[in-house]
Amino acid sequence: MGNAHRPDIRRAVFLDRDGTIAQYREYCCRPQDFRLLPGVGHAIRTLNHAGLAVIVMTNQSAIARGWLTGDVLEQIHRKMRRALSRVGARIDAIYVCPHHPDDGCACRKPGIAMLQQAAKDFELSLASSYVVGDRMLDVLSGRAAGSQTILVRSGHRLEPTNGVTPDHEAQDLSEAVAWILQQEGLQAGRGRPLAAARGPSDHAGVQR
Ligand SMILES: [Mg+2]
Ligand SMILES: [Zn+2]
Repeated sequence: MGNAHRPDIRRAVFLDRDGTIAQYREYCCRPQDFRLLPGVGHAIRTLNHAGLAVIVMTNQSAIARGWLTGDVLEQIHRKMRRALSRVGARIDAIYVCPHHPDDGCACRKPGIAMLQQAAKDFELSLASSYVVGDRMLDVLSGRAAGSQTILVRSGHRLEPTNGVTPDHEAQDLSEAVAWILQQEGLQAGRGRPLAAARGPSDHAGVQR
């Protein structure tokens, strides 16, 4: 199918954090444990230049488990933004689910409350947006929201798909971005100028 390039439709690339932007760890509870994966800065900058909003969407049950505070999470995200800004890359917003899997919240992926909140905050068309992640819960969330889904193999071990297949599979975020640009009818480095996304830049959790 593919998105015809429609500047009038505001769309986003939703990025999972651990295993997609950063080296996979089951729980990242200290800034010194957070490391960007190779190439993600340039990949994100390419999305910025293409005029797509770049929004991080991450499950952080370590908060509910008491292993991570909101303060330390903010430090980790500052480190992420700083590292990205060194190559001129920008994340427009970060949405966090701080809940425990047993809490039954709507925001924990594969739930779609974070996607819906971002769509509201940034006036996005989810049907024209993309979800990139290293786990099936990312794919399931994107699929449930009607977005195009890309599974990257840069993080978590491969999981059973139970019949749900992503729209695309990629080695890493760079490859995923190349595919997205193809869908958009764009080539790297040839995007429109930045269409700055509106809205608050950080979201310390979607409330249940
Ligand atoms: Mg992940
Ligand atoms: Zn939640």
